[in-house]
Amino acid sequence: MQIEFLGTGAGSPSKSRNVSSLALRLLEERNAIWLFDVGEATQHQILNTTIRPRKIEKIFITHLHGDHIFGLPGLLSSRSFQGGTEPLTIYGPVGIKEYVQTSLRISESRLSYPIKFVEITDDGELFSDQTFTVYAKHLDHKIACFGYRVVEHDHPGELRVDKLRALGIPSGPIYGQIKQGKIVTLDDGTVLNGQDFIGQPQKGRIVAILGDTRKTKNAVELAQDADVLVHESTFGKGEAKLAHNYYHSTSVQAANIAKKAHVHLLLLNHISARYVGKTANDLAYQVRDIFPNTKVVRDFSIYDIPFKNKGGE
Ligand SMILES: [Zn+2]
Repeated sequence: MQIEFLGTGAGSPSKSRNVSSLALRLLEERNAIWLFDVGEATQHQILNTTIRPRKIEKIFITHLHGDHIFGLPGLLSSRSFQGGTEPLTIYGPVGIKEYVQTSLRISESRLSYPIKFVEITDDGELFSDQTFTVYAKHLDHKIACFGYRVVEHDHPGELRVDKLRALGIPSGPIYGQIKQGKIVTLDDGTVLNGQDFIGQPQKGRIVAILGDTRKTKNAVELAQDADVLVHESTFGKGEAKLAHNYYHSTSVQAANIAKKAHVHLLLLNHISARYVGKTANDLAYQVRDIFPNTKVVRDFSIYDIPFKNKGGE
């Protein structure tokens, strides 16, 4: 599981930062990519990565401002042109369906795959399957905006084959029963408790990816105990008033949320063009006393999200 940033700038593109988009790379977990926001030229950014558009399984849109959605029609068309046939689901605020369908209809674009739209109105669980559950909650922006909490389900412990072999138990159907944690009796009368032969379960990872927002308690709830929180920092220290007026956040507000929510790593994105080059790093430096594990991300940065504990021990 990795996060790859495709666009990390606020509002309009600059030479060093494209507009908002990031990819949650779930290639090992489900052979898929999930995109969060698709600002203009996201597909051009993708050309500089190893991401293949047909692997994009889900797209989560935080809100309908142009710098977060103007790249959608082009990306969707290219995915089709490149032979994508797998269905795609797009989640987002009410209006996302009309926006995409209208763009495609007027440009007479036909897609080779079906799109399922899920328009969000209420806070709560958005989607759940074998491996992941995703929640959405309202944020506080000028238009309806959502933050997402991606929760990976815990992985059950692995069967300790080494331990079974050490006891001279040959592999066979009995391994399956032991793996289920059952109590089994061997031919020679030995009783084994399956639980003794299963490694530690691996705790699933949690990632919170937020859209544009003022400081809001929903951000803390979305980020609770997350391994990674991606939070906007359109403004810096001492600019809380400006941030409030423009429905955005400061680096200090983001850091306070990360601290309150006990997250492990805070990644600041949606960086204003006023913070050019290395001065953007000041946004993280400003909050080193509040939340030291803070990074200002750049386009094409990739962050690995490791498991907290290794199973099987
Ligand atoms: Zn924005």
